[in-house]
Amino acid sequence: MDSFTYEALPMRVVFGSGALSRLAEETDRLGLHRVLVLSTPEQRDLADRVAAVLGERAAGVFDQARPHVPVPTVAAAAHAAAELNADGCVAAGGGSTIGLGKALARQLDLPVVALPTTYAGSEMTPIWGLTENHRKQTGRDRKVLPRSVVYDPDLTASLPATVAATSGLNAIAHAVEALYAPDASPVIAAMAEQGVRDLATSFTGASALRGAWLCGACLGATTMGLHHKLCHVLGGMLDLPHAETHAILLPHVAAFNLPAAAAAAAALSRALHTDDPAASLAKLAAGTGAPANLAALGVTEPDLARVVDEVLANPYANPRPVHRADLESLLHQAFRPR
Ligand code: NAD
Repeated sequence: MDSFTYEALPMRVVFGSGALSRLAEETDRLGLHRVLVLSTPEQRDLADRVAAVLGERAAGVFDQARPHVPVPTVAAAAHAAAELNADGCVAAGGGSTIGLGKALARQLDLPVVALPTTYAGSEMTPIWGLTENHRKQTGRDRKVLPRSVVYDPDLTASLPATVAATSGLNAIAHAVEALYAPDASPVIAAMAEQGVRDLATSFTGASALRGAWLCGACLGATTMGLHHKLCHVLGGMLDLPHAETHAILLPHVAAFNLPAAAAAAAALSRALHTDDPAASLAKLAAGTGAPANLAALGVTEPDLARVVDEVLANPYANPRPVHRADLESLLHQAFRPR
């Protein structure tokens, strides 16, 4: 990494146990008076708590956030925002809810304050996604970056252990690919290494959420490689669960890529206290309690051929050239029941 370019994203982070109580300070700083609170139906209780903390600053709650940000959901949320004359929103939840906030920011110019409750990291990136007719479109737009992110580890206490672990591996995957990204830099390398160290120590508590923040920041600042490409294609084509797909594939992609990425392998070895980071990642994935292979997620052998074709159709950054036979072999290893 002799030369590099690093562009910092404008981002305010408030972190700490009980930080939810500081949410109103954040909306006040942004001059917001009528905030729409976003959540999934499953996290309606949290949305109500958030609205209570905001008091008269909360204009209402929209609790219909769904995975992959479907266009009709965005339309319904935009309608609610207009009806309530909302001047901003608070997205309280995981990547699905924060994705809805980003869609509103993109469409209506509404500033977003994010209150993340998983480790997915969307709150740290200018990447938006939108799904229509089973096709997920993504893009980058500074406008969708949350203005402020309030990380309260107390809000992750309700994550079931398996969800926390797969979400943690999703975050680690951002750091792994940032370490060998073409646009990596010393700042990103330091954040990635510490993020992996934090999450590998535990998938619960303040250090895990701090790791998720660091890994999310790596995702927002660099170009992802084979792992994220594969997860995007698999998720979009077969509608697979996001965090579980990351957890299954990460050890396989790491085993393939790290021999061609010495500095990344060294950083991961330090963070994971191991000589064999790919094996350590496989051990972490095996301990999640989640499905261990693609077949267990419902993927079939004929699906794999379609995935290979789509991954090879467009170029992407990767430290090691990926030929058809490599990809077929990697996917079959991730597919096969152990
Ligand atoms: P999610 O937001 O879909 O959440 C999964 C489920 O867990 C939901 O039912 C949610 O309500 C529940 N949940 C969340 N936090 C909880 C908590 N603390 N306690 C109990 N239940 C909780 O899942 P995710 O993995 O956070 O996000 C995945 C989505 O985010 C995908 O669509 C992915 O593409 C997107 N994503 C986008 C970016 C980006 O930069 N744009 C980055 C990462 C992920």
